Amino acid sequence: MGAGVLRVAPLPGETTWSLLCRIATRYAMAPGDLLPGWQWANARPQGPGGATRPDAEVLLNRAGQRALVRLSRTGEDSFAGALPSWPDGPGAFAETADDDRLLARWQVASTALGPVAFGCRLCTARRTGQASPVMRYLPRWARVCGRHQRWLLDAADGHELEHLDLADCPQVWAAQRRWAGVARRAAQAGADPERVFAMARAVVCQWWEQALSWDQETVWPTRLHHVAGGDAGPRFWWWRAVARDAVTFPEVVAVARALTDPAVQEQVWDDHGGRGPVRAFRPDGAFGCELAARLGRPWMTELPADYSGALGAWMGAVVRGRFRAEHGITPTGWPDDPWFLKKEHRPAPVAVQLRNLDEHAERAARQASAAQVRAGRAGDAAFTRVAYVDRRGRRAVAYYRRPAPADAARGQG
Ligand SMILES: [Zn+2]
Repeated sequence: MGAGVLRVAPLPGETTWSLLCRIATRYAMAPGDLLPGWQWANARPQGPGGATRPDAEVLLNRAGQRALVRLSRTGEDSFAGALPSWPDGPGAFAETADDDRLLARWQVASTALGPVAFGCRLCTARRTGQASPVMRYLPRWARVCGRHQRWLLDAADGHELEHLDLADCPQVWAAQRRWAGVARRAAQAGADPERVFAMARAVVCQWWEQALSWDQETVWPTRLHHVAGGDAGPRFWWWRAVARDAVTFPEVVAVARALTDPAVQEQVWDDHGGRGPVRAFRPDGAFGCELAARLGRPWMTELPADYSGALGAWMGAVVRGRFRAEHGITPTGWPDDPWFLKKEHRPAPVAVQLRNLDEHAERAARQASAAQVRAGRAGDAAFTRVAYVDRRGRRAVAYYRRPAPADAARGQG
């Protein structure tokens, strides 16, 4: 094989671990075969079953980086620009610049540098000629592959599914194009787009939980079935957890746009009473009507008032901020920061929801089998029920199988 065949260039936003895996594949090796080339400072982050977590990341010292560059058979120039963790490598080791040991350290990418998603394999194949799996740092507002109409899923949610098909959900890819404008306006207004997105996502994810009881909600169920390949049916709760961010993305962008609009913030202030007597917020107030209209759900103004979550916190902060500005009072910190997202308002991670589903299913199976045994014992004369008190004085019941008539007859014979 010539050097050109073995050449593996880093892809934009890729994790160094993902690149290392692709290099191993090019040499027809398992990634684990390459690891002894470096001295590792800590243990590999493992997922269920002991496999390396898909969102694992490796930091390399300078000598370690040079070794990886040599294996990739490409120039080092592309590495720092493409691999977000690359510049952090040398700083992670207490060593002198001329240390020629190849040092490496594991970390979990998604907790160090932000969410990691599966790359689009079709795009990878286009760029590299190989449809290998790629892990990329990808913010939640950039998950649509427009070319292939796919939503790229988080790599560490504990499932194998890499993407959702958005062919029937044009609103989702349109929303990603709209987000760029929303982020620009947010930044112009002095808000951090990342925090605005997080707040809007928290608001919409709370609605997502409540929407199960919204009779008029038809958009989300339809979109959910589309991304589930036509029918989420038998695995409804699984799909509901895995596809939440894709399905609700257009609403998240619409809410982010509304919350950063000064005219909308003015409505919140007016609803509260403005400079007059304080009034309680109402879903059919000016702000509620505006949100419902922007979301294309006019019936939302008839929902029961609930300001217990992120939206209520945001409204309160907007009003307090405006009040302080009007009275020349200096803001006090996070209670006046509309984009401060409290821990309890953060959406439940998909991985946690899936674990809960698994536990729920296990519990239900255990209960069903226990009920079956009880029903069997109660109705089955083949069991003898014996009540007794155990050695700690607790009352208990034991069931003993009686010999079947044939066995009993044989026993007597
Ligand atoms: Zn693609």
